[in-house]
Amino acid sequence: MELFNTLGGKIETLEPVGAPELRMYCCGPTVYDYGHIGNFRTFLHVDVLRRFLRQQGMAVKFVMNITDVDDKIIRNSAAAGKPIAEYTEKYERAFFEDSDALGIERPEIVARATACIPDMVALIEKLASEDIAYKTEDGSWYFRIARFPDYGKLSRKDFEGIEDGARVDVDEYEKDAARDFALWKATKPGEQSWETGIGRGRPGWHIECSAMALKYLGESLDLHCGGEDLMFPHHENEIAQSECATHHTFVRHWMHVRFLLVEGRKMSKSEGNFYTLRDLLLKGYRASAIRFLLISVPYRNQMNFTFESLTESTNAIDRLRNFHQRMLKGGFAEGLDEAVAAATLKAEQGFTASLANDLNTAEARAAIFDLVRAANAAADQGTLRSGNVGEILRVLGLFDGVFAVLKDTDAEITRAALTWAEAEGRLGEAAPELVTNLALSDADIDALVAERTQAKKSRNFGRADAIRNDLLAKGILIEDSKDGVRWRRK
Ligand code: AMP
Ligand code: ZN
Repeated sequence: MELFNTLGGKIETLEPVGAPELRMYCCGPTVYDYGHIGNFRTFLHVDVLRRFLRQQGMAVKFVMNITDVDDKIIRNSAAAGKPIAEYTEKYERAFFEDSDALGIERPEIVARATACIPDMVALIEKLASEDIAYKTEDGSWYFRIARFPDYGKLSRKDFEGIEDGARVDVDEYEKDAARDFALWKATKPGEQSWETGIGRGRPGWHIECSAMALKYLGESLDLHCGGEDLMFPHHENEIAQSECATHHTFVRHWMHVRFLLVEGRKMSKSEGNFYTLRDLLLKGYRASAIRFLLISVPYRNQMNFTFESLTESTNAIDRLRNFHQRMLKGGFAEGLDEAVAAATLKAEQGFTASLANDLNTAEARAAIFDLVRAANAAADQGTLRSGNVGEILRVLGLFDGVFAVLKDTDAEITRAALTWAEAEGRLGEAAPELVTNLALSDADIDALVAERTQAKKSRNFGRADAIRNDLLAKGILIEDSKDGVRWRRK
């Protein structure tokens, strides 16, 4: 596997060093609100990478943190009048529900910041023992970046003339400013805090990831991932803290996912172009189409999300699923068609080579669609043979092991989103068609479709058309084919 390494700025081989498994860490969500599709772009590409590595036979140990204490959480939970644990629990649960809906596999280890306070304190104590961490008058602790000459090596910023002792105490600070940053924040009235050996307070954001990565993965990690905004200062600070404490290279390989834009602009609530997964599900888009779209643009390319591209993604999934069903159904003449066999092999090689080449998901996807096109054409012309089907299904299985879009759980996921919207008093945001469509169970629809077939047989075409049109208005399509009648939800 060749993957771009932000550290050094080159494509390099990704492999485990000194252990049988690849030790991998990703900065997880800050659980102060629902995740947006930009967040999920990052988590989805990490999922694709992990799935592909395993498919290639590499063992992977993946750790992700949950930031459940930080400035934003403290501010929002206070505004909501709730203790932070109760406040964050809701959004952590929502994050995993959304991840599941998007087919993101759970990490081997999920670590909550609030459960690792002693580890963070121990790390700060270690830094303090070498005078790299220092305490200020109010009882906070800061990292002395003048003590880490490599500061800036990841983002390749030049911090000439770092001013010793210039400090910043918020978790996120302005770009390009190298400042001593907070490791531990002294308690403030009304804020959650912990009584520890370094005083009463709460951790800074950066120390969290260092402590959890070192705790679960050891002193040297193979891979660390996150969105591109985290490169500086967050990851730069993680490196400084960890390497000063352990005197070892913290992480060999850094992967950063480029930001998602929406309709050409930065996503923001005030611009009205800010979408969570749930917003899109309520508009009637399928979870599988959202996954497929977000992973189809390679992670290092800037991605522009549009509703047009989401509709295209929905259609692409229909083509794939129809093709998959056609292959499963079989009924082809005996034998093996050499041209189809060659196309199948080419698709497999193209798929694997593209992903191994810096996770080029667009080319991997194109390789599979070449096969769909060739095999569909051969099936239409009657040249595809039953002996081709096993290999085609195997290659589709490889594709789906990474892309994970063939299994249709979309209606179930949308139904869960509607249940959630109802509980939150947000059902009014749902597309009306969706509400009526999902109110009909599969059994209700089967019964109506059977009634229509019966009506047609007894030449009651008025009734047959009425049922068809009524279902269509509810977003259910009836398809008559030579193999019988099928229906599907739009
Ligand atoms: P947060 O919950 O804000 O800490 O973000 C979780 C992850 O989403 C981090 O890895 C961020 O870098 C990433 N992220 C945030 N916004 C975007 C975006 N617009 N596009 C891609 N990744 C993003
Ligand atoms: Zn982090």
